Order: sequence, then structure tokens, then C-alpha cells
Amino acid sequence: MRITETSVKRVLTRTSGYLRGVTSHSLQPYRGCGFGNALCGEYCYVKHNTYVTRGRAWGSFLEVRTNAAASYLESVVRERKWARREGGEFGVFLSSATDPFVPQEKKYGVTQSVLRAMIDEPPDTLIVQTHAATVANHAELLSQLKACARVHITIESDRDRLPGLPAPASSVESRFDAARALRDAGLTVVITVSPLLPIENPRAFFTRCAGCAEAVIIDHFIGGDGTETGSRTRRTRLPDVMESVEAGTTELAYREEMVAIAREIMPGRVGVGARGFAGEFA
Ligand code: SF4
Repeated sequence: MRITETSVKRVLTRTSGYLRGVTSHSLQPYRGCGFGNALCGEYCYVKHNTYVTRGRAWGSFLEVRTNAAASYLESVVRERKWARREGGEFGVFLSSATDPFVPQEKKYGVTQSVLRAMIDEPPDTLIVQTHAATVANHAELLSQLKACARVHITIESDRDRLPGLPAPASSVESRFDAARALRDAGLTVVITVSPLLPIENPRAFFTRCAGCAEAVIIDHFIGGDGTETGSRTRRTRLPDVMESVEAGTTELAYREEMVAIAREIMPGRVGVGARGFAGEFA
């Protein structure tokens, strides 16, 4: 992987598309992703974004935005005003086009510097979205933002491996452990089952979610990958693999089946798709 250090002009991006109803802004501490060659890199919708990749293979590059915290502090007052003028609150999604806790975060600490800046200038809502169990190493820092923060940990299935696909960024077990540790630290934790992959034992899976998170959000690649029909994901190996593991899992009806089971186990704590990401649970 080619790693470069760069500066970003404006680290706070006003959201559009899927995220528009979720938060007013997104923030990417890195461009590219250190997990691009992991399981989630297979279905990652960002890899189809040529503005981000500029012809480079997904998982082959990472730009470290060393001035991300300074850029946040430079623009936060203006962007907060803008968000409120638009009639909403100032919310930040960290992150939608990279993972805030890529392995390289240990060396560069960009996300940590952004979180420290947010302690001085907190958003109204902060969604920390990650696939990495190492998020739990930052419990103390995140705790200082617990009045506004919600930590979303993606656990797409109870299976660690799907045939022919790479290993996940962190094991299922370690992500559940991270969720529990953060919840024990007093943080609001949400498990994002996104995109929903074939679950071997749904009742056991959602019972486990209920024990370590406030809520779950279930999102299928259909409608969840930035296209209404899931056409981005259909260009990848994932749908064939999903069908080979369990027939019918590439249909939206599978999501409804899982939502029904989750709502039996976690009534009032299950979100679906973009509305779930916006904090609507039933
Ligand atoms: S962690 Fe997120 S941004 Fe990175 S490859 Fe996985 S899905 Fe894409």
C-alpha cells in the first residue's frame, strides 16, 4: 500500500445522497482505506468512486490528512451555523469513505486528533462508524464526547469468513468484545448489520447484539450501496457468494425476515436502512 501525507482544504463535507438525512456533514481523516483488501473492501461502495480513487486500485493507497483536526477547527463555527440555518443540527459522520480506525491510525493518530478537536468544539451529533475492533482502545477519548457520540460498529454476519472472500478487518468476536467494552464505558453503541450478509443463527446473533448495544441497524446492499437496485454490489463477487452460502439472501425479503426476528428480540431498538442510520428505531 502506498501511504502519503497530505493536507485537505476542507475536511468537513456537507452531505448529500444516502447520508443527507443522517448528518449534515461527513469527515474523512484519510482518503483511501487501510481495510480496502479486507472483506468489507469487497462490497465497499467507495471503491466505485473515481473522484476518490483517481484510477488507483482500492486498498492500494492511503492519503493521511495530517491537518484534519486543524481544518475541522478552522471551519466548525461556519459549518455549524450553516447546518442550523438549514433547519437542522450540526452532525458529523466519521467516516463514510474510509475507516477512522484503519491500522495506520496507530502511527498517524489523525482520527484521535480530530476527536480531541471535537472535545473543544463538539458537534450536536457525532456518529463514529467503524469495522475495527481497535475502536475500543479509544474508549477514554470517546467517553469525553459521549453527550453527542454514537459509536456504530459494523458486524454484518455471525460468520467470520465467506468462501473465496478475504478475512474481515476484525473478527466477529473481537467486534462484539469492542461493542461491550465501549458500552461498559458508558457510550451509546449501535451494531450496524450493513450490508446484511447470510447469518447462520439469527436468533443467537441478535440476542448477542441486544446484550452489547443499544440498537441494531439492518441494511441490505439493495438500496444500501448508493443505488436503488444494488447495482454497484451486483458488479462484485459478493452476491454469488451470498447465494452459495444461503439462497435468497440477495433479495430484500431476506432483510425483512431478519428485521422481524431482530424486532422480536430487541423491540424498539431496530433500525432499517437510511432511516435507521438517522436514529429511527422501532
Ligand atoms: S472500512 Fe469502510 S471504507 Fe474501508 S474498505 Fe471497508 S467499507 Fe470501505
